[in-house]
Amino acid sequence: MINIFDKIKTDGHENVLVCSDTSSGLQALIAIHNTSLGPALGGCRMWPYESFDAALSDVLRLSKAMTYKAAISNLPLGGGKSVIWGDPAKDKSDTLLKAFAKHVDRLGGQYIVAEDVGISLEDIEFIRETTPYVSGFSQENKGSGDPSPATAYGVFCGMKACLEEVYGNNAFTGKRIAIQGLGKVGSALAKLLHEAGASLYVSDMDPERVAKAIRLYGADPIHGHEVYRVDCDIFAPCALGGIINERSIKSFSCRIIAGAANNQLKDSNVLEELSQKNILYAPDYVLNAGGLINIAEELSGYHPEQAYKKIAQIYDRMKQVFSMAKKEGISTAKAADLLAEAQLKGERI
Ligand code: NAD
Repeated sequence: MINIFDKIKTDGHENVLVCSDTSSGLQALIAIHNTSLGPALGGCRMWPYESFDAALSDVLRLSKAMTYKAAISNLPLGGGKSVIWGDPAKDKSDTLLKAFAKHVDRLGGQYIVAEDVGISLEDIEFIRETTPYVSGFSQENKGSGDPSPATAYGVFCGMKACLEEVYGNNAFTGKRIAIQGLGKVGSALAKLLHEAGASLYVSDMDPERVAKAIRLYGADPIHGHEVYRVDCDIFAPCALGGIINERSIKSFSCRIIAGAANNQLKDSNVLEELSQKNILYAPDYVLNAGGLINIAEELSGYHPEQAYKKIAQIYDRMKQVFSMAKKEGISTAKAADLLAEAQLKGERI
């Protein structure tokens, strides 16, 4: 079993709350990683974890990542995350969500909850009936709605900085881009890239999503792991985490890896090999922050134009990461971490 205090010490979490409610069966964890820049905002994930340790590891890892994402995005927010241990299809109920909402409420705004895997926009609206410490509600309720189009737009803007870094210009025309995952973000990204003139290769476990991309964007379908081998300008992981690993790295035949998936690097050992293969890696939490930036706008009254203007700055942030990596002779992943940590310490970046 994980020693929770050791873990907290290593990753520097401020607080981890174990939430339980016997009548509804709620078992949840709320992790607040860092609130030095503002309240900890992060989604609530409902997932049938194999064990308490698995749920704890996930919430600790995800909340820390939120701190870095908010910091590098220059948002007045800290990092937090929550997980409800259960199967959303079987275990979710109004009483369970209400019990969870009460725990969030007791934190008095230190943690602001949003949607994530297994928790929908409707669930968030329901939680909002019990606590005001909620973000990411529907556009009908003056919220920012589904964050995915904003995330896709941020990835698109960050890709421009990647193209500029590698090819000296940011034109998508004629560029070959392989997208793994045509879900909410991947499909919105495919549309933007197609409209900008890129040729697309697509892979998804759902054949209907692939068929749609072929029909709408003339995309070339790629089967399963073959997507790693595609000879292309950009490989865009938009499905799973951990996909840059000791096995996949041998297959990559792209110049740039830039996508929306969280935690793309299996571990930092792969960074050296990426550099040897001359592949430019766009740090995931810098590139996929569009959804968070969009949600954060709700806190001061949501205006889409303003939100999208801020999301477009992912381009500048990515350039800053590349420039620091070159100046210091470090990986782009390390440069992003250093920039986020500087922001957390209140240093100008
Ligand atoms: P989603 O669930 O809507 O889509 C994921 C897609 O990936 C699905 O179509 C699924 O069939 C496909 N997929 C799963 N395994 C695959 C595989 N092995 N090969 C090919 N396709 C596979 O999720 P999403 O909201 O589009 O998010 C995609 C990624 O981006 C996730 O890693 C998520 O954590 C990350 N992310 C999303 C947002 C957001 O705003 N939605 C924000 C930041 C990061």
